[in-house]
Amino acid sequence: MRVLHVASEVAPFSKTGGLADVLGALPRAQARLGADVTIVTPRYRSVDPQRFGFARWLRTIPVPLGTEVVDVGVYEGALPGGAGVRVLLIDHPPSFDRDGLYGTAAGDYPDNARRFTLLGRAALAVAAHLEIWPHLLHGHDWQAGPALIYAQHAGGDLRPPATVFTLHNLAYQGIFPESTVDELGFPRSLWHPGGFEFYGNLSLLKAGLVLADRVTTVSPTYAKEIQTVEHGMAMDGVLRSLAGKLVGIVNGVDYDVWSPEHDPQLARAYSREDLSGKRACKTALQRELGLQIKPETPLCGSISRLAFQKGFDLVLEALPQLLEEDVQYVLLGTGEPALETAFRELAARHKGKLAVRIAYDDQEAHRIEAGADLFVMPSRWEPCGLNQMYSLRYGTPPIVRATGGLDDTIVDYEPRSRSGTGFKFGAYSKDALAETWRRALAAYRRPEEFRALQKRGMAQDFSWTASARRYVELYERVLAAR
Ligand code: ADP
Repeated sequence: MRVLHVASEVAPFSKTGGLADVLGALPRAQARLGADVTIVTPRYRSVDPQRFGFARWLRTIPVPLGTEVVDVGVYEGALPGGAGVRVLLIDHPPSFDRDGLYGTAAGDYPDNARRFTLLGRAALAVAAHLEIWPHLLHGHDWQAGPALIYAQHAGGDLRPPATVFTLHNLAYQGIFPESTVDELGFPRSLWHPGGFEFYGNLSLLKAGLVLADRVTTVSPTYAKEIQTVEHGMAMDGVLRSLAGKLVGIVNGVDYDVWSPEHDPQLARAYSREDLSGKRACKTALQRELGLQIKPETPLCGSISRLAFQKGFDLVLEALPQLLEEDVQYVLLGTGEPALETAFRELAARHKGKLAVRIAYDDQEAHRIEAGADLFVMPSRWEPCGLNQMYSLRYGTPPIVRATGGLDDTIVDYEPRSRSGTGFKFGAYSKDALAETWRRALAAYRRPEEFRALQKRGMAQDFSWTASARRYVELYERVLAAR
């Protein structure tokens, strides 16, 4: 089975969020199950092809785009970690050699529709050129919408592949003005409410949703939530009408990258059998962050995009009172300037107890997962979420809001039966967060119980193998139906 993934970010080459982690791991797990897997993604400025042993093709590939033909370069290499997943980086400096993946602090790049249409068309042109035309095309998020549009209209001897489209976050809908349809040469036949028209605009997300043979999203609860008015972001009607082809498959964790047993970032390795190294990680983290070095004080942490979705307005409200107790907190994140400023100001008032790092720092993320005692993730909505699963593996029980994948992957702690893996709250309110946070701190102060809770979390297995199998089974069903 030949599979072609089209995605706008792939770890370790480029990353702004969980999408990259999925593309860095799922294809490898699929290849291990016997599929022939290729990923096509842009070569952004931040990607260094040499570092990963990529070779540049001598020739360029002509890609039709609207009324033009654009020549793109191709770097060919592989996903690290063996398994033989082919990676093709589309090199077109005017489109991708920029500071950001999608935009700057001032907003999205105005030509994003064009940039990712080039990606989709180039992916198919390059697959045809290499004679690896896919049996199955798997597109991720709105940036892969154009690939699905063109796959259907491949033409010539090329048979339209079967298609799966994964929705990683409904908040990004790829909305552009109607004029984009003609500018980029999309078929006018899709300009209607059952196609890619969305209230008078073009939605490239909707294109992917309606054209795909099957749609997946990244957790069963999110699959249900997005069909409701409350969480559907105006797309709920579309999603309800597609319910028969929509399934939720939870993302996995790449334990090669996220395990305290062999994480090169940690001051000391540790494991479920021997947690003693976690203390050294905590001390090292407190020192690194300029927090008071107090082994018994509970250190809580968060690592996140500072976006409306992630719920850090609640943390801002809850923290001042919580910090009156013997508690420390570290936040690593970047995003909305207002949130960044508010956290910086709060940190200035709570030196030694509150550390705020406004940065994107993958290595520090590992050290926080290991050095913290509790992890805080109060999302408004969360399609799947990865950090709560990383936290489980690092013995850092998560405090989460019961939504989407957070609800599916974390079981609330029950002191009486000593069951559960973390702490969940339902209402989106400061009080609900603070109360649950206090419940977690109380559990922390009962070391024997807390140790058992940590170990239960560390024993959870969210590896990709099971989820990758579900995707491959889905591909098989789609191909059989064709
Ligand atoms: P989302 O995709 O919505 O951002 P996920 O929890 O699915 O949320 O994935 C987020 C990924 O991005 C995790 O791997 C997380 O560690 C990483 N991440 C987010 N913000 C930062 C940051 N400031 N520094 C380092 N890693 C970050």
